[in-house]
Amino acid sequence: MDEDITLNPENNSDGMLEMQHEEIGLVHDADLYTQQQMQMQSAVGVKCPNCGTMNEPEAVYCASCGYPIGKTACPNCGAELDPDADFCESCRRYIRPDVCSFCGARLSDNDAFCPECGSPRGGIVCPVCHTLNDFSFCKQCGTALTEEARMLVAQIHELPEFKELQQLASDLQQLEQSIPYTSERDVLKDQRNIKLRERVLTLLAEDRGVANPVIADPQNKRLSKEEYDAKKKERLDKIAALLDKMVQAPQPKAAQVRNYAMACRPQGVRLAWECNFKHALHSSPCGCAKPQLGGKWIILGKDVKKVIKDDM
Ligand SMILES: [Zn+2]
Ligand SMILES: [Zn+2]
Ligand SMILES: [Zn+2]
Ligand SMILES: [Zn+2]
Ligand SMILES: [Zn+2]
Repeated sequence: MDEDITLNPENNSDGMLEMQHEEIGLVHDADLYTQQQMQMQSAVGVKCPNCGTMNEPEAVYCASCGYPIGKTACPNCGAELDPDADFCESCRRYIRPDVCSFCGARLSDNDAFCPECGSPRGGIVCPVCHTLNDFSFCKQCGTALTEEARMLVAQIHELPEFKELQQLASDLQQLEQSIPYTSERDVLKDQRNIKLRERVLTLLAEDRGVANPVIADPQNKRLSKEEYDAKKKERLDKIAALLDKMVQAPQPKAAQVRNYAMACRPQGVRLAWECNFKHALHSSPCGCAKPQLGGKWIILGKDVKKVIKDDM
């Protein structure tokens, strides 16, 4: 690691400290001066939350351990960002030219393709919907765009918990398409239809010479509102439990979290991704500045009060 010269405590602060020292008219006592200087430094410096070292107030990274402690500006729109963010939530752009957005490997200035995963630095155009993407899954249609992403999908889709999750999501989708009773009028209409059907079938049977025919119940019985709600809740609870089970811990690379979360996403259910960074709801981890801190998919429903931060 290069020693950042501005992080050296002897460099910038002395002039300022001396000026303040004169302004407030301190006595020229050597001991008192040293004491005051130490107090001033601790008052204006930034303490590293990782190792405890005191840093210059304008330091972006800790001089001792490299932990990010300050703020930087987005190179694209100027918005204030954490120095370890790789995506700007203000202008919605990937901002790290030195890190592959698809796999998290280091890139050097003249790499047109990632030496690790072979992805082009300029992004990948989705073969299905033709959207240009910075991340491994299409933000428009969800297609896996790199070999690594396709392998991850194949792997995760073989897991028993994912299979169960996808089955529940499909069941839920099917249930939502069967319309529950919504009004008293619907109930009456259904009852009238059943009576009419009975009468027609009886007449037809009598025409064929069958006396007192037995008419079977129609098979396409609609669920009552209560049955529908109970079934729906049961499925939603199970889905939520499985999503919790698949929750992702923090990872060294943001790309790892984005790729895993996208590969775990079941089809047919409305989800949002809640990050551990600001506990914001994103439509996916691709809209979060620091997904490396981990996060999880949650179901979007009536009981979700928070609003999605982004809509991609
Ligand atoms: Zn530190
Ligand atoms: Zn920006
Ligand atoms: Zn790569
Ligand atoms: Zn697409
Ligand atoms: Zn976030």
